[in-house]
Amino acid sequence: MTKDNFHKFFTIYFIGFGIIISLFGAFTSYIFEMNNIQNRLDKKAIEIFDIKTNTILKPVIESIDNVVKALTFNDTVVEFTKTNDIHKRNELEQLFLAIATSQNKIMQVRLLSKNGDEVIRIDRQNETTKPYIVATKNLQNKSERDYFQIVSNMTKQTIWHSKLDLNVENGKVEIPYKHTIRAAMPLFLNGKFAGMVIVNILTNDLFKAIGTSSVFEHFIIDKEKNYIFHPNNQFSGNKYTGIKRDIKEDFPDGLNVNGIYTYPIDDILNNDDDAILVLKTKENYENLLIDEKLNSAIFVLMLTVILSLLLAIYISKKPRKIQRALVKANEKLNKFSSIIDKYVITATTKPDSTIISVSTAFEQLSGYEKSELIGSKMNILTNPLQDKSLFKELWETILSGKIWMGEIINKKKNGESYWVDQHIIPTINDKNEIESFVSICIDITAKKELEKIASIDVLTGLYNRRMINEFVKNELETVKRNSNGLSIIMIDIDYFKQVNDTFGHQVGDIVLSQLSKLILENTRKSDIQGRYGGEEFIIICPQTTNEAACILAEKLRSAVENFAFDVAGHKTISLGVSSFNKNDNVESMIKRADDGLYQAKNSGRNRFISL
Ligand code: GH3
Ligand code: MG
Ligand code: MG
Repeated sequence: MTKDNFHKFFTIYFIGFGIIISLFGAFTSYIFEMNNIQNRLDKKAIEIFDIKTNTILKPVIESIDNVVKALTFNDTVVEFTKTNDIHKRNELEQLFLAIATSQNKIMQVRLLSKNGDEVIRIDRQNETTKPYIVATKNLQNKSERDYFQIVSNMTKQTIWHSKLDLNVENGKVEIPYKHTIRAAMPLFLNGKFAGMVIVNILTNDLFKAIGTSSVFEHFIIDKEKNYIFHPNNQFSGNKYTGIKRDIKEDFPDGLNVNGIYTYPIDDILNNDDDAILVLKTKENYENLLIDEKLNSAIFVLMLTVILSLLLAIYISKKPRKIQRALVKANEKLNKFSSIIDKYVITATTKPDSTIISVSTAFEQLSGYEKSELIGSKMNILTNPLQDKSLFKELWETILSGKIWMGEIINKKKNGESYWVDQHIIPTINDKNEIESFVSICIDITAKKELEKIASIDVLTGLYNRRMINEFVKNELETVKRNSNGLSIIMIDIDYFKQVNDTFGHQVGDIVLSQLSKLILENTRKSDIQGRYGGEEFIIICPQTTNEAACILAEKLRSAVENFAFDVAGHKTISLGVSSFNKNDNVESMIKRADDGLYQAKNSGRNRFISL
């Protein structure tokens, strides 16, 4: 994935994620809201019904009932009915007038005698005018009227309500329509009907208050399916106006369908209408509600999309940075890996030395193909010239989990020898077991070749082994001629490996170099000093007897013992001394010195043995 793709991927990923979440959220909230609409309507209808009946209709009816009751049980009214005292009449008229004045919906307050004669009558033209006392001469007999018939025959002194109808004046429905209801109560004297109080109230305002809401259209329908109240006022009271209006026109599917709510209001009106209040959900209201929900869902969706877009851009910045760093690191690593592969001679093996991987440099140096090397054991490279004791030491070191370092002569596929300065590093797994060995080496064949033709050892500045052998040969010839004596001292540092293991090879080299100086300082100019092997030195002492050689050996031993090497501190040496015998040759003289050294080691070190 390229950098740009990566950025695009992250941005798209987050936007996509955001959109999916928003869509899901918007969709569920839409579904939820849709289900909610029905519940909300149901609740709203109950709420509205409660308001319309309990807080509007009921108090009006109750207040009128109270007026009727108050007048029926009024002492003056009772007294007047009993005595017909003409002097009380004026007082009574004032009382009735005051009552009518108190509420402008009261259109008429009357007291009728037991024969149906209007005794006192207060009238009002409309709600805006003042009520007035109707003159005695204009009072009528109402005994034929249904209300009188009903109330005069009541056995109990309770309130009676008329149907909700229209005011009729002189036998005709008054225009504009005046919706009215009458409340009346019989007046009993000694348990017998003695007259009645009747109050007319105008219900136009009441209907207006009942009939408006933003959610529903309101209807009041009586038991014969006449409209007492219709939102279109011309159909209200159609039983009395004669204007026909089939209920099917407003409710084609009847009243028992969704969105239409019916509530009986008979318990409040308590009359013969058996009326019901019908709430019909306004057609556009449901659509309005749906649109509103849809709009809010779309708004939420858009908002979330925008937010997720911004978030996506912001969030994708971080991984982009990380990715950029990763790409760079990877590029670097690849570069280094290819350099390592090309120039570093390295191989990884299993603990049993089976090769797992090799670098191209290894492949090139050994002359084998990777496919030939992988799966083979490391001994595929073993050179017969290599001293086998080295492998013993090598395996002991690496199997104990330590790094082994040393020079090895190997054999190429074509049989040629090559020298390497080898490091073998064991890798340890979580269970503290050796998992593999990593071998890294430098090709030192050229250095070895050079050493072979050179005379001086590079590290110590002393003669090298090849030259020492030459010198021993020469000095042997000389001593054979003049018999002045010839001795050889072979030196080996005690426990030198510890120096390398503890402080590293470089410190080891410093010890070798400082020891060379000590040797030079404590020997004569005529002596020949040489480095014979890794940490083995030889001093050829021409014209030196065994006795003198032993003194020198002791002097060297003591000088080394008392010397503090840099970093490594005090070290000791063991020495082997051999002096010329008449049958000696190079090999025998060196071997005797070597054997002496071997015995010195075995008998406790830090000493010399002369053989
Ligand atoms: P011993 O008392 O028995 O001699 O113990 P030792 O530890 O000295 O054992 P040995 O003589 O067998 O060890 C020789 C060590 O010297 C092994 C090798 O790692 C180290 N060595 C050989 N040549 C060099 C060199 O040029 N530089 C360094 N630093 N170490 C070398
Ligand atoms: Mg040694
Ligand atoms: Mg040694």
